[in-house]
Order: sequence, then structure tokens, then C-alpha cells
Amino acid sequence: MDALLRCIQADITQMEVDAIVNAANSGLLGGGGVDGAIHRAAGPALLEACRALGGCPTGEARLTPGFNLKAAYVIHTVGPVWQGGGHGEAALLAACYRNSLELARLHEARSIAFPAISCGVYGYPLEAACELAVRELRSWLAERPHALREVWLVAFDTRALDAYRRALS
Ligand code: ADP
Repeated sequence: MDALLRCIQADITQMEVDAIVNAANSGLLGGGGVDGAIHRAAGPALLEACRALGGCPTGEARLTPGFNLKAAYVIHTVGPVWQGGGHGEAALLAACYRNSLELARLHEARSIAFPAISCGVYGYPLEAACELAVRELRSWLAERPHALREVWLVAFDTRALDAYRRALS
């Protein structure tokens, strides 16, 4: 069966999926926004696991257990900081989605939830980021129709939810 790609307004830390994606920073040592929320919900063992990874370059992804989360795994990916669009931001953001999906597949996760990577303090324009996410996820899933069962785009607020709905329609 082909994977379902859907959006939902939710706190990603509460998602009952095999893997949730964290919009981390390159140090992987926690931060604000969704990163802080995930570390709080997962518990201090997550920071220890992240410390052992020694960081992650922009566009790449790393996997840890989910510890106290409902999700078995956290996939930490580092989105680009928006610098006007002429610094490879789109290619880097696309790489975040693809590398996160690859890691999920490698670990046999069947369901995954993404936050709006780079759309908070990293300043990526929301509409463009949501369109890019949908485009990348659809093309990856089309190439691997049996790799995943469900993929969630998690909006934290109604503005993001509207942007995902437009991108999906
Ligand atoms: P970045 O540094 O990649 O911009 P942020 O954490 O600042 O990451 O924001 C990324 C997105 O995650 C924003 O759209 C923000 O509204 C959203 N977000 C923040 N907290 C949560 C949460 N608990 N669940 C889902 N999304 C969240």
C-alpha cells in the first residue's frame, strides 16, 4: 500500500508514530522551539545520546532512541538558516527531508512525523517550506511506495496548518 501523506495540527512530542523528526541545531545539544519541547518530553537521556553523536552538519540527519516519548526514535536533522534564498537553503532543506526519510527506512520505522523544519527561529518562509516539504516527500515516497505506512506534517499553529493544506491540495 502507498504511504499516506497528511497534515495535522499537534504537538509533535505527543505523536504516536515510530519516529518523530527534530528540527535541531548542528551541535545537537538542545535548544528552543520544537527541539526544546522534544528534549523535555524525551527526558535527559536524550541529551546524553545526542552528545555522543558529536553534532550534525546542516542538511544531514542522525537517529537516537525516543526514550520517554511515544515514538521509538527521534531523527535529528539540521535545517538551513534562511539567508534570503541564495545560499542553497532550498537544497539543504530538501536534503533534511530526504535524509530523515532514509534513516527512518534504515531503522524500519513505518510511520514518521515532521515539524516545519527551519520555519521557526531559522526564518525559512513558511509557504515555500511547506511546498518544498510536500514536493520532496511525495517524490521520495513515489520512488519507494512500500517503505513507509504514514507520514505526518505536523503544524504547531493554524498558519502552518493552512500552509500545509494548500501545499497538499
Ligand atoms: P528551526 O530552528 O528549524 O526554525 P524551530 O523549533 O524554531 O526550528 O521551529 C520549527 C517549527 O516547529 C516552527 O514552525 C514551530 O512553530 C514548530 N514547533 C515548535 N514547537 C513545536 C511542537 N511542540 N510540535 C510541533 N511543532 C513545533
